[in-house]
Amino acid sequence: MAFGRYQVRSGIVINSRRLAEGGRLVTVYGPEGKTNAIARPARKVSGARLELFSQVELQLYRRRAGDLASVTQGVALEQHPRLAEPARYALGNLLCELIDHLAQEEDPHPATYRVFQSGLKGVERHSDPEKVALITVVKLLGEAGLAPRLGRCVSCGQIPVVGFSAAAGGATCASCPGEPYSPRALVELAALQRATFRRGLELPLARRPELWSMLAAHLDYHVARLHSLGWVRETLEPPAGRAS
Ligand SMILES: [Zn+2]
Repeated sequence: MAFGRYQVRSGIVINSRRLAEGGRLVTVYGPEGKTNAIARPARKVSGARLELFSQVELQLYRRRAGDLASVTQGVALEQHPRLAEPARYALGNLLCELIDHLAQEEDPHPATYRVFQSGLKGVERHSDPEKVALITVVKLLGEAGLAPRLGRCVSCGQIPVVGFSAAAGGATCASCPGEPYSPRALVELAALQRATFRRGLELPLARRPELWSMLAAHLDYHVARLHSLGWVRETLEPPAGRAS
């Protein structure tokens, strides 16, 4: 007969959904991976404290291995009030949605967690949260082994590259099938991929709508259709910049 077990998990709330029967289903991402747990209203856990982006420490209980955990106690260590600003909120939400798709339950990747944590902190505090989010998305794809292949045509190896194909997995030359992009945007994406987080922040990134467009195609194809991505692009692009 199996006995119940307690567990402590710390990390950032990357998803928090209200349940029809009351309480919340929260997803926490931390150095030990991703954990889903139910926070029931009867427990002494404030729902408000398990909000998206909160840094929390949860005590969890599972009756049997493989059961969905229940939160028995929860402490919010840090909240992120500036992430409530619309543009920052949309970008923070995108990082949370992306890591929710990339991370597996109980599969620790401390390096990936550090990238995610730095990215979210930067989206909250940096004067250019969009740039921080672009770098973080590129770095998280790299950590997951899903980075697009750039520099040479992903299909035939030729240079120069003048397009991008999500299906082929990277940049494309004029002879191979791909969506056309400016050489500058392709160079910027490659530079982002090569740069450290800190160096990436120094890149000017003049072709951001194209960078988002390539990343969106790549994420759609290789990860999932991320709902917050459309929202990010709506929030960031001025109405005049939208295709009519
Ligand atoms: Zn080619």
